[in-house]
Amino acid sequence: MELPNVILLDHPVIQTKLTELRDFTADHRKFRALLDEIAGLMVYEVTRDWPTKPQPVQTPLEKTVGKVLARQVTLVPILRAGLGMADGVLKLLPDARLGHLGVRRNEETLEPMSYYQKLPPDIAQTEVLLIDPMLATGGSGSAAISYLKTAGVVSMKFVCLVAAPEGIAAVHREHPEVPIYTAAIDRQLNEKGYILPGLGDAGDRIFGT
Ligand code: URA
Repeated sequence: MELPNVILLDHPVIQTKLTELRDFTADHRKFRALLDEIAGLMVYEVTRDWPTKPQPVQTPLEKTVGKVLARQVTLVPILRAGLGMADGVLKLLPDARLGHLGVRRNEETLEPMSYYQKLPPDIAQTEVLLIDPMLATGGSGSAAISYLKTAGVVSMKFVCLVAAPEGIAAVHREHPEVPIYTAAIDRQLNEKGYILPGLGDAGDRIFGT
């Protein structure tokens, strides 16, 4: 099924690593290493349409004009599981800045709300990658996107590892223009909001908690 503005990264190498990651016997060391590798591999596709600008360079033989990314990059992991993908992305985009967003459910209104924010002051002028391995109900993803829009961000992509159809629908109901990149679209959510088949609690598996 074609979903508008959802890019499924079904590269065989990514899929092989994702299958290893789903395996419940993968301990936190293996889980972290795999997540790191997959996040790096995803960067190629996620950044494919970013603009470049010409940059003069002197090779050992002569002067030429190369290309470099036109805009600064900001990674924004949603705490806490998003942190597990940050290093893998930073390996390929080492000049990127790192913002942080914590989102949790308000116990009275049951609405997701941002409880921690630390973003670069000029984030509005940068390319933003919002990262969270699991797009489950879409509540925290939507709230994070709304927060980034309020901060003036105009160019952002949501990068996750595993998405539930319910989460994709929820994010795109509010933010249809934000592209969602994912390595898998799983079957459904269970009654506790976990993705099936999924990979369990990503935060617990990353941090060994
Ligand atoms: N968050 C997770 O870590 N796992 C899920 O399956 C859903 C949300």
